[in-house]
Amino acid sequence: MAAKHEPSFYDSVQRNFDRAAALTNLPKGLLAQIRECNSVYQMRFPVKIGKEYKVIEAYRAQHSHHRLPTKGGIRYSQKVNQDEVMALASLMTYKCALVDVPFGGAKGGVKISPREYSVEDLEKITRRYTTELIRKNFIGPGIDVPAPDYGTGAREMAWIFDTYTVFKGGEIDAAGCVTGKPVTQNGIRGRSEATGRGVYYGIREVLNDKPLMDAVGLSTGTAGKTVAIQGLGNVGYHAGKICQTEGEMKIISVAEYEGAIYSEEGIDIEKLSKFRKRTGSILNFPGTSQLDQRKKTLEVECDVLIPAALENQLRKDNAKRIKAKVIAEAANGPTTADAEAILLKKGTIIIPDMYLNAGGVTVSYFEWLKNLSHMRFGRIEKRFDENTYLRIVNLIEKKTGKPVGVTEKSMIARGADEIDLVRSGLEETMVTAYEQIRTVMKRRKKVTDLRTAAFIVALNKISSDYLNMGVFP
Ligand code: GLU
Repeated sequence: MAAKHEPSFYDSVQRNFDRAAALTNLPKGLLAQIRECNSVYQMRFPVKIGKEYKVIEAYRAQHSHHRLPTKGGIRYSQKVNQDEVMALASLMTYKCALVDVPFGGAKGGVKISPREYSVEDLEKITRRYTTELIRKNFIGPGIDVPAPDYGTGAREMAWIFDTYTVFKGGEIDAAGCVTGKPVTQNGIRGRSEATGRGVYYGIREVLNDKPLMDAVGLSTGTAGKTVAIQGLGNVGYHAGKICQTEGEMKIISVAEYEGAIYSEEGIDIEKLSKFRKRTGSILNFPGTSQLDQRKKTLEVECDVLIPAALENQLRKDNAKRIKAKVIAEAANGPTTADAEAILLKKGTIIIPDMYLNAGGVTVSYFEWLKNLSHMRFGRIEKRFDENTYLRIVNLIEKKTGKPVGVTEKSMIARGADEIDLVRSGLEETMVTAYEQIRTVMKRRKKVTDLRTAAFIVALNKISSDYLNMGVFP
C-alpha cells in the first residue's frame, strides 16, 4: 500500500501520464482515450479446497485495444485489487509501445497467496480462472495473451495453455494464447531470464551514459558498481546474477520475504539462491550480516538500487533516506508519484519500469511469433550460416597460409541457436528504446527525467497508431 494520503498505484500512473502528456501537442480527446482503461472483467468463482468451497476473487483488465492482442501477465497475490490490475495494464500499454511490441496492454490478477495452497489447488484455481476468461472471450492468440507475473511462472502458463486447448480443440494457433510456457510445451528458450536480462541491459545503457553519470558523480561502466536488490524472485534473481556475471557489478545487499542481508565484499547470487532453496531463507548466508529490517536494503549506500518485488516500495516516508544514485525499477510501479518528486529533486536517476522491465514482454512477443510460425527460431538458417562462415575462414587460411585454430574456427563458424537470437533481439530492443528515450531528452529541454521521456516516446507511437486507423482524423 502507498503511505497515507499518497495516490493509489493507478493514480500514480495517471499522474505520470499527465506530466508527460502536458509536454506533447497531441489532441486532448486522443490523449483521454489512450489514458483510460478500456475494459475490466472482475470475477468471483468457487473452488473446492479440501472439503470446503472457497470463493476466489480475480480480474483481467485490458487497458488499450489500439493493437491486438492485448498482452500482460497474471499475478497471484493477496494484495491484488482492481486499482492494481488497472495500473499494471496501463503500464503494459506504454511498455509495449516503447519497445515496439505490437500489442495493447492488459494484466490479470487472482487474489490468493500461492504459498497457502497446494500445487493441486493452484492448478484447480488456474484452470478455473482460465475457463472464466474463455467464457467471456478474454483470452486467445488474437484477443488477449497472458504471461507470468508476480507469483506465477511457466507451470501456471502450461495449465492455462492446456485448459485453453481443451475448449478450443483444432485451433491451429492455440499455443499463442499464453506466453512464458515451458520450453517443452511451445515455450521459447530465454523467456524465464528475459526480464532480468533486460534489466541488466537497461542498467548497462544508463551506466554507460556519460552525461547522466557525470550528473550523479559516477564513473561510466558497470564493473565494480555496488548494487542492492529487493526481491530474489524470477526477475531479481536473473537481474542480480547477470549484473554480477556479465556486468561485474557487486551485489552488497539482498532483501526477501524473511529479511535482509548485507556484505561489503559482495554476495554471490547463484550461491545465495541455492542456499535459500536448501534452507528456506536468505538469512545466515555465509559472509553476510543481517539488517534489522528487510526494508533497510532500500536505504543502503549503493550505486544502483534494484527494487524487484512489488509496487509502492519507495514512498513519501522513506524517499529521503534512499541513498542510491540510480534506481532501477525492475518491478512495476515501485516508486510512488510523491516519492518520485522527492527523488528527482535530489538528483536521483530513476530508470522507469516501463522501459527497464520490458524484456519480459519482448521475449513473450518472440514466443508468440514462434507459436504462430510453428517453428523454432534459427532452424532454417543455422546450418547455412555455419557453412558460409566456414567457407570464409577456409578462404582466409588459404590466402594467408596461416591455419586458424580448431577452437577459434568452431567459435567463428557457428550459426545462431534460438537462445542466441532471443538474446540478440532482446539486447537490440533495449538499446534502441534507450536511444529513443534519450533523443527525446536531448531535443526537449523541458524533459529532464527518463520516465517522462519514455512516456512521450510511447504516447507518440500509440497516437500515430490511432491516427493511422482513422479513429481521430
Ligand atoms: N508480467 C510481465 C510484465 O509485467 C510480462 C508480461 C508479458 O510477457 O506479457 O511485463
